[in-house]
Parts: sequence; structure tokens; C-alpha cells
Amino acid sequence: MLNEKMYGLGSKSSVIRELFAYGLERKKLVGEDKVYDFSLGNPSIPAPPQVKQALLELLEEPAEALHGYTPASGDPEVRKILAESVNRRFGTHFTAENFYMTVGAAASLNISIHAVANPGDDFIVFAPFFPEYKVWVENAEANLLVTPADTESFQIDFEAFERLLSPRTKGIIINSPNNPSGAVYSEATIQKLAKLLKQKQEEYGTSIYLITDEPYREIVYDGLTVPYVTQYYENTIVCYSYSKSLSLPGERIGYIIVPDELTDSGRVMAAVAGAGRALGYVCAPVLFQRAVARCADVTGDISAYARNRDLLYNGLTKLGYECVRPQGAFYLFVKSLEPDANAFSEKAKQHDVLVVPSDSFGCTGYVRISYCVSEKTIVDSLPAFAEIMREYQ
Ligand code: PLP
Repeated sequence: MLNEKMYGLGSKSSVIRELFAYGLERKKLVGEDKVYDFSLGNPSIPAPPQVKQALLELLEEPAEALHGYTPASGDPEVRKILAESVNRRFGTHFTAENFYMTVGAAASLNISIHAVANPGDDFIVFAPFFPEYKVWVENAEANLLVTPADTESFQIDFEAFERLLSPRTKGIIINSPNNPSGAVYSEATIQKLAKLLKQKQEEYGTSIYLITDEPYREIVYDGLTVPYVTQYYENTIVCYSYSKSLSLPGERIGYIIVPDELTDSGRVMAAVAGAGRALGYVCAPVLFQRAVARCADVTGDISAYARNRDLLYNGLTKLGYECVRPQGAFYLFVKSLEPDANAFSEKAKQHDVLVVPSDSFGCTGYVRISYCVSEKTIVDSLPAFAEIMREYQ
């Protein structure tokens, strides 16, 4: 007898993967440039040249040392360099001891959730949210509670959020810049969130961990700054990844930060190490641990994403589509032209426009458009978007 829960997870692919697979088949049939595939969040800009340089230099080092195991939490020298970089950029005071190297944000989150969750605990997320949160929280035998979206600004609907808080609340997961809305939480939002959580911790006599999922931290536009959450709320666990900032999603590298200020920080870090051990996330890929340490202050050239955002946002709003102007990440969250976003996505598919219906993000009536594609794809897709709009008029 199989584990049916795992079978269920493994045998159904996500809507995003299904659309992507459909796009590949369709491209074979009608041609690469005739299908406008906005399904995946795969970075379209190359990894910065410093990454290649770092790898070339590293490959000259003795192979035994280069490819061998590091401590489970990662190479101490790497963690020290990364801590110094974060401190320089965000005014924090971390050391190597606050870092645990992981295989990307997925592992960072999975470990962090498992480290603090007991069966029956509540984790609260904000719609629209990254669908895998549900998998990871439920795998830790905890409950995922969803705060409905504030569709005016895609900040936080605090009234709805407060109704979900209780002594069972163990964690809050935030993701800013956000996939799929492109919103960035303002400093006022983070301050209000921090204040409310501190008040609730005191009222309940519990610890509420704010888990901040940050793979898009550096991908912001118009000179915006993204507040560094540990500076506002002590019980923050940072989950970071280089998948998007250095365009390295396939290399699987990231980290967790457990700050000293966090309640029982030492015990939480030990639980992070324990969850890493239990889940098999030990000793992240060593070549890339060392490569990212050499690129600690580097980000890819995101100007292409900024151009794509403007082209797509201006192009679609001119056609009459409704969406909030994204401030970060590389997604546009557009109001579906009919209440059922799945039906709208199907209709768009008939025009070879592949957009993801929003239901799995916990927010109905929208589609996500990933604009990490070539500029040409965006320009060429606009007549198809115009045609779709005409069909609804
Ligand atoms: N969190 C969010 C919001 C994401 O968009 C993604 C990937 O797209 C992840 C986590 C997982 O990132 P990684 O590839 O680093 O595991």
C-alpha cells in the first residue's frame, strides 16, 4: 500500500506545469514564436557574468576540498561572507551562526515550517499566495489559514487577518515582492504587521514566527526599497534563495536566517538543523555555496524585467485589462474577463496565450502573467490579448 497523500501530490501536476507542458507541445505544432507562454516563473535574464567567473575560479581549486561534504548547515566561511553581505546591505548584525544553507527557497520554507510546527498548529498566509505553502504546511501536520486578498492594493487586509489569529497561531508566511501579484509590502504594512503580532504574542503568551519568503527581494522597480523584516519584528525567520536574484533556479541554493533576537534563538536554530536532517536537506550543493559567496553583493541586470513590466502593463491596461501595477518580482496579476478564471485561461489558450488561473493562489477571478520572457514575446502577444478582449465585448 502506497502513501496515498504522497501519491496524490506526485501524480497530479500543478496547473502551471500543465500549461507549460501544453505550451511545449503546441510550439512543436504551430512554431515557437506563435505561442505566448506566460506560465512559468523561470528567470529569462542570464546569470550575471560574476557567477561564471566564480565557477571557473573554483574549478581550479583541489577537487577533494571543492566537492566534499560541508557541515550540514553549510560552509562556515560561506555563511560568514553571506552574513557580512546582508549586514552591509540591510544594517543587521548577523554572524555565520545565524545562517543555514539550503537548496533554494522551497527547502528554506519547508525546513522553517517543520522546525517550529507541531501537529494542529495554524500557519496564516495572505492571498494570493504561492500554492506550495499548502503542501509544506500540511506536510508538517499543521493547518493553513488564508487571509483573503486586499484586491485594491494587494497589501494586507488587517481586519480579516486579525480574525484568523489565535493561541494556535504558530507562523505567518509573507512573500514580498509577491508571486503572483507583484506587490511589495510597504514599510507601513510591515510596521502594522509587527505591532499586531507583538500584541498578540503578549496577549496569548506564545511565540508567533513571521516566516518571510524572499526569493524576489532584489527584483524591485522604480528605486523601491523592500523593508528588511528582522528590523521590525524579532521573531522573524528569513527564507532566501538565489533562484531569481542570480537566475540560478536549477542550481538549488539559498539560506535560512534565524536571528539572535528571536525568542529561544539557539533552540530554534537547533530545530532548523533537526528539520534539515529529518527532511534530508543537509550540506547544500557545495560548488554553489561557494559560488554565491563570491557573488554575495551581486544581482542580475533586472532592466529587462522592468522594460517587460512597462510594456505589458501599459499594453494591457490600454486594451482595457485591469491590474495593479507590479512593484517587484516578474508577474502581472490581471483581472479575468469573466468570473471563472479557468474558463478565461482556456479562452486565452485558444489564442495561444498561456496565462495561469488564480484559483490555486487562493484568490479567484484573476490570471497570473509571468513576464520573465523575451520582449518580443510580449510585443507579439498584444494583438492576441486585443483579440481576446474583443471576444468578451
Ligand atoms: N516562493 C516563491 C514565492 C516562489 O515564487 C518560488 C519559486 O518560484 C519559491 C518559493 C521556490 O523557490 P526556489 O526555486 O528557490 O525553491
